Amino acid sequence: VATLLEVHAHPDDESITSGGLFAMSADRGIHTVLVTCTGGELGEIVDPALEEVRPRLAEVRAGELRAAGKILGIRDIEMLGYRDSGMAGAPENAYPGSFASANFEEAAARLTGLLRKYCPDVVATYDQNGGYGHPDHIQAHRITVRAMDLVADPAFRPELGAPWQPKKLYYTALSRSRLMKFADQVETLGITGEFAARIKALAEEIRKRRMMPEGNAAPTEIPFGVPDEMITATIDARDYIDRKVGAMRAHRTQIKAEAWALTAPPDLLREIWGWESFIRARSFVDAPAKETDVFAGIPI
Ligand SMILES: [Zn+2]
Repeated sequence: VATLLEVHAHPDDESITSGGLFAMSADRGIHTVLVTCTGGELGEIVDPALEEVRPRLAEVRAGELRAAGKILGIRDIEMLGYRDSGMAGAPENAYPGSFASANFEEAAARLTGLLRKYCPDVVATYDQNGGYGHPDHIQAHRITVRAMDLVADPAFRPELGAPWQPKKLYYTALSRSRLMKFADQVETLGITGEFAARIKALAEEIRKRRMMPEGNAAPTEIPFGVPDEMITATIDARDYIDRKVGAMRAHRTQIKAEAWALTAPPDLLREIWGWESFIRARSFVDAPAKETDVFAGIPI
């Protein structure tokens, strides 16, 4: 049986970036594994009524993660055991046990052990910007790349399990053109609120940078969204939208139940969350340059 293993930074990242791929893969009989690097201890609690859980937020978020995993058909969830770090430059980054300041080789070795345990065919994590620059997301990227270098080396820590070679490595990506299209829809429909404002601000930033004279800002310096030409795999997970939104909803402390991102009209939800994009970073099998399936070239 084929196996998908994704490495994410915090509980909820798996549902937002990859809920569709997880649900779809589970339905295809693929063994799905999630590695979550931190407990999400520093997450903002979006619902004031839930503020009382703050002292045991890691425990509560672990429960939310299990609930989301169940909805998405994730068979195994592994916590890598680190503490959440703050945004870039935040003092929390230096806290003992924080993922961003963790011993890099030790963290990569922990992940290598999990790769050898589950023998995934496809591995996915964020790109080198961590998707949007959060230190924990960048660290998740770094340890995954390092673990991919170590996992098949028989000389590396044989006590962590037998060497294994995953066939493909992907980075999750947010399509810039979809983000722009989405921002236009938000505008057209006159949607307001936090989420809509954030989308509009992102679109504005992308537009502004695009208008700069050539050479002032490489497209890759833009912190959010990936130019479409860099995307190699686009997954149509629109039919899994109910499960993806359900999984996001399970993260109650992180995503407001009444948030527009969860309650928009069904047709819009399908278009917003139903497409998931990836960049193929490594492949040891033949597969087309542009894919609609991250398992292309791999027998299931
Ligand atoms: Zn995160």
